[in-house]
Amino acid sequence: MNKKSLLLPLCGLFMAACSTVSMTGRKQLSLVSESEVLAASLAEYQSYMQTAQLSTDAQATARVKGIAQRIAAAAEAYLKVSGQEADLQNYAWEFNLVNSPELNAFCMPGGKIVVYTGMVALAGNGADADDELAAVIGHEVGHAIAKHGQERASQQMLTSLGSQVLGTVTANSSSTIQQAVATAYGLGTQYGALLPFSRKHELEADYIGIVLATVAGYDADAAVTLWQKMEAVSTTSVPQFASTHPSSSKRISELQKNIPTVKATYGQAAQAAASSTSTTTSSTSSRSKTQSSKKSGTGYKIGN
Ligand SMILES: [Zn+2]
Repeated sequence: MNKKSLLLPLCGLFMAACSTVSMTGRKQLSLVSESEVLAASLAEYQSYMQTAQLSTDAQATARVKGIAQRIAAAAEAYLKVSGQEADLQNYAWEFNLVNSPELNAFCMPGGKIVVYTGMVALAGNGADADDELAAVIGHEVGHAIAKHGQERASQQMLTSLGSQVLGTVTANSSSTIQQAVATAYGLGTQYGALLPFSRKHELEADYIGIVLATVAGYDADAAVTLWQKMEAVSTTSVPQFASTHPSSSKRISELQKNIPTVKATYGQAAQAAASSTSTTTSSTSSRSKTQSSKKSGTGYKIGN
């Protein structure tokens, strides 16, 4: 089934079945309710955290939490100025540094952020290390606020059922929805078995990630060096993050193309929340400027 060709007619037939990613203007399928996705995601996160080993490195943990908190504050500011304030009620942010050599990080719907120590090691201790971690976290939060999980679960349901029964499904079929969510998230398996994001979602998360990093006061250029590092290690192994986040010269070139515009648009817009609520952040960066965040149509388009 060609999901792409189905999406536009479906948006016409089932208005409630589609939504728009506000930062990019892209229409997305949303057959599965957000509450179903949040419930399934929270259950998966809690299960994961029961076995995850938190880092005992207090300094590294504080550093990652500080960066994640600033990215989260930027995301909240963005949701507010873009008319999605109602979505904030779905977020109960949590920030964790998990002890694992794997190159991995994720943000579950609802704002549960996990960074692996392997990713911190990859970023290193250079001058732009925090900026690179901000790029990783920004990218993952980008997937969350663009509701890519909800979209994937919706696509999964569409694929498995076909459009002829959509009316029935959207009316009530919670077990089917639950199954679609489970498949999209790899529930019942290790989190790493999550289905890879599509290239379209990756590029969109990259874009949102550099916006959030910029608003939070980080240097978006680090997204490029981060992915270059990721590509370099991918040649010798298949790290977790790279296997679910396919790297390519295309994404790097897209970042390089978008970063100047994002910096020009959002560079002066470091939002007040990042500095006014950062009570637990360990970051000492003073690059954030407390000016009002501005929403801007950037004319950004996802490829193909
Ligand atoms: Zn991704």
